[in-house]
Amino acid sequence: MNRPAANRLVVVSNRVAQPREMRAGGLAAAMRAALKEHGGLWFGWSGKRVAPNERALHRERAGNIDYALLDLTREEFETYYIGFANRTLWPLLHFQPTMMQYGRAQYAGYREVNKLFAERLAPLLREDDRVWIHDYHLIPLASELRALGIGARIGFFLHIPLPPPELLINLPCHADLIATLGACDLVGVQNRGDARALTHYFTGTLGAKRSGDAVLLGERRTRIAAFPISIDATAVARQSKAAATSSTIRNLHASLSGRALAIGVDRLDYSKGLPRRFEAFGRFLAEHPEWRSRVSFLQIAPPSREEVPEYRELRSKLERSAGATNGRYAEPDWVPIRYVNRSFAQRTLAGFYRIADLALVTPLRDGMNLVAKEFVAAQPADDPGALVLSRFAGAAGELPQAILVNPYDPEGLVEGIEQGLTMPLEERRERWAAMFEYISKHDIGAWRCAFLEALGS
Ligand code: UDP
Repeated sequence: MNRPAANRLVVVSNRVAQPREMRAGGLAAAMRAALKEHGGLWFGWSGKRVAPNERALHRERAGNIDYALLDLTREEFETYYIGFANRTLWPLLHFQPTMMQYGRAQYAGYREVNKLFAERLAPLLREDDRVWIHDYHLIPLASELRALGIGARIGFFLHIPLPPPELLINLPCHADLIATLGACDLVGVQNRGDARALTHYFTGTLGAKRSGDAVLLGERRTRIAAFPISIDATAVARQSKAAATSSTIRNLHASLSGRALAIGVDRLDYSKGLPRRFEAFGRFLAEHPEWRSRVSFLQIAPPSREEVPEYRELRSKLERSAGATNGRYAEPDWVPIRYVNRSFAQRTLAGFYRIADLALVTPLRDGMNLVAKEFVAAQPADDPGALVLSRFAGAAGELPQAILVNPYDPEGLVEGIEQGLTMPLEERRERWAAMFEYISKHDIGAWRCAFLEALGS
């Protein structure tokens, strides 16, 4: 008789890295590793938008991983994904309530899709499965599964920040939405501040009882804890060494003609603080003429969520800003800001990081910011670059040796850039060694093991 597949892992996320998808990021790789280890099922949206009568659940098996991918209708895509997830929750949870667009129809659509996910997932579940739900698209999913009688252990991880109750209550449906997390056995967030905020919300606003690091809302005990996400530091270090010989990296290096390189890598998202970063770089050149023609700033910014109007506006704003700085300071053989609106493979990025002298990671708010960690992992030990890091990125709590800046402080950003470009080698080595050691130990593998261990079997 076959051994019953005890403790099978079921991962649920909005987007699923499909079996043949090569460009899967760090999280996708981590989930694949977890699913391979335990055998499992990955459930989520197929990425397809179809007419209601064309909806299908696509099943596939690769190795010991089953995939179940559900189509969404165009209307569901508008209300659930564009509307509530990305125009309501994304700005609010990133501490930008004034950018929040709320509508009851969008919230209803979001709830409907979560219910639909639960209805399609429930028949695929076994009693002893462990279910790991990811991110803000799927906050109510655990409660929808419970409503269908699912008793499995359920963990939820929020990849983005969680603001304090005073901000959260700007959301008209806050209580209805957040209470659904009480259906989970474990809720993981990026850092202790977020865990505190959620616990306070549960006790202060929802009237939950507190018991150690858990809250009790009705019958269930929901543990709330911090699990700062990370990267595969060894893989990034290896990729960055290997990239040194690639033509893309050699060409970039040659194009610098011995000038320093500052780098930024961000999806084009307003949470990343790009307009302020561009302004700060322009201001740095204005206030430090000695650096003109001596440093180039390469900003990689792949377009993102272009269906959302706020993202299109950001794109044109940045084009104007880069154009203005370049028009003002460029020389025939030097352009201050190289603004590149496309994405690169991670191994290429690792090579870019390695030859950069400085990284500018200055989000207004970020759950973690993996680019900051990737930059550190990619540096050569003998001559590492400096990291300018927003204190409002989750990574700041783990990398205190970075040059921490407040992205709302223009003078502070200029000082951070100068400090990074002029930091003595010995100091760079010391700061980098501490950060690299930390990241090597607290890598993505440690993250997933910690979460699954806390979820239990
Ligand atoms: N990334 C990539 N290609 C690009 C730009 C970014 O592969 O052109 C990756 C980057 O290496 C990182 C991830 O996308 O792993 C971005 O994660 P982060 O936490 O920094 O920000 P998010 O986009 O999740 O808000």
